[in-house]
Amino acid sequence: MGIVERIRAIVGERGVLDGREAALRKAGIWRDDSIKARAIIRPRTTDELSAVLECCHAAGQAVVIHGGLTGLVRGADSTASDIVLSLERMRDIEAMDPIGRTVTVQAGVPLQQVQEAAEAHGLMFPLDLGARGSAQIGGNIATNAGGNRVIRFGMVRDMVLGLEVVLADGTVISALNQMLKNNAGYDLKQLFIGTEGTLGVITRAVLRLREAPRSRSTALVGINEFDAAVQFLRLADSGLGGMLSAFEVMWRDFYSLVTAATRGKPPVDDGFGLYVLLEALGGDPAGDESRFENILSAAIERGLIGDAVVAKSDAQRTALWALRDDVEQVFQYSPMQIFDVSLPLTTIPGYLDLLRQSLEAQWPQNRLFVFGHLGDGNLHLAISTADPDPAAQRQLEEIVYRPLGELGGSVSAEHGIGMDKKPYLRLCRSETEISLMKGLKAALDPAAILNPGKVVDPA
Ligand SMILES: Cc1cc2nc3c(=O)[nH]c(=O)nc-3n(C[C@H](O)[C@H](O)[C@H](O)COP(=O)(O)OP(=O)(O)OC[C@H]3O[C@@H](n4cnc5c(N)ncnc54)[C@H](O)[C@@H]3O)c2cc1C
Repeated sequence: MGIVERIRAIVGERGVLDGREAALRKAGIWRDDSIKARAIIRPRTTDELSAVLECCHAAGQAVVIHGGLTGLVRGADSTASDIVLSLERMRDIEAMDPIGRTVTVQAGVPLQQVQEAAEAHGLMFPLDLGARGSAQIGGNIATNAGGNRVIRFGMVRDMVLGLEVVLADGTVISALNQMLKNNAGYDLKQLFIGTEGTLGVITRAVLRLREAPRSRSTALVGINEFDAAVQFLRLADSGLGGMLSAFEVMWRDFYSLVTAATRGKPPVDDGFGLYVLLEALGGDPAGDESRFENILSAAIERGLIGDAVVAKSDAQRTALWALRDDVEQVFQYSPMQIFDVSLPLTTIPGYLDLLRQSLEAQWPQNRLFVFGHLGDGNLHLAISTADPDPAAQRQLEEIVYRPLGELGGSVSAEHGIGMDKKPYLRLCRSETEISLMKGLKAALDPAAILNPGKVVDPA
């Protein structure tokens, strides 16, 4: 019996998509090509998933794990000889504990459902990102996703209390810890957070919830100089006493592009060098609003910001966030590549100057749009070389990534390595770090069947 038939006996008819059914599935939410695989396997329980992996391990069968397929680094790409393991049928919210402020979920639950389940209990799951409707919590954990509120709540790593994971050979590691404090030995869940499915398959998670905010204050401000933006960040963070939850920056080119698309008057004039969208989440609606506005007034008095508009309704807040989230506008230019990098704050202006010079020298027709989560040192660079030659793509990657190592930056701030960034991992990780990564891979997945070709190769 072939391996797909053996797996069919484990997961049942509904658990297997092959042939035409598999070919109809898209390889990613923004992609036109279809999933390539021997079959797409959709277990319903951890026991089924464990038996599937045991079978694949014994046969040396490569397995590629699929969450919501919103990843941006080709971490879930498969070949026609792979088995795709999709978590889409493991989508139960199993337990909500409003007293301990935790929720226990299966890995295939979409992020937005976790957010809504928390809200129904007056709580908040702070992770938020544009792909919330499709991305699964298992994929968020596997990529250690970041998003818009990292400055306050950290990345996914800071929101996970416990995990259940199935190792490559089918062994189930159930570490569904619910406590904030637990220093009993190695914190094994960290091996699976951010390792992009190369060390195990996440099947369930215990997530930490926070009290839902009672106030939300949002403003868009115009700033002339980068240094002033950094000083404004410090002023806002200290003055808001821990309430600052987002500090998103758009450089002028990006702001002009997204405001032109709305066809209305930009909320803040188009003449500044930088635009900051800042948001504070608090617990005292009346007091928080005046504190927020006082910070803006103080920043204007000190000459840090030139103009500000404060959202006075949910509709206005949504409109301000829509500008920051309207990344699709960059695809007016072709070919377009989007990069996700991070750098120490003070090195950002020098890095951007160097990048602009290199782009001008190589492709005078280039278009560069910069935006990102400035509070986290995380830049997104949308670049069109206007050069149809496929070799330009690799050349551009070199120009963007090469300076990062020396500056103490990273080739991946929040999207992971996948296959796209694997050639550049060495720019920001030492040989000893990479060799330890390879050793972990060899120890946990000795037959190298999980997500082959992603992040690092085995030792
Ligand atoms: C519009 C848009 C906005 C985005 N904004 C952000 C953002 O602000 N911040 C950010 O960090 N990312 C962002 N992303 C990227 C993406 O949404 C995240 O990387 C997300 O966490 C991926 O989740 P997923 O379920 O779609 O995973 P997939 O794309 O399906 O998989 C991603 C990786 O995780 C592995 N994986 C998936 N599920 C599991 C599992 N259960 N166990 C083990 N491994 C698994 C896959 O094999 C793959 O390597 C954005 C993407 C889009 C399209």
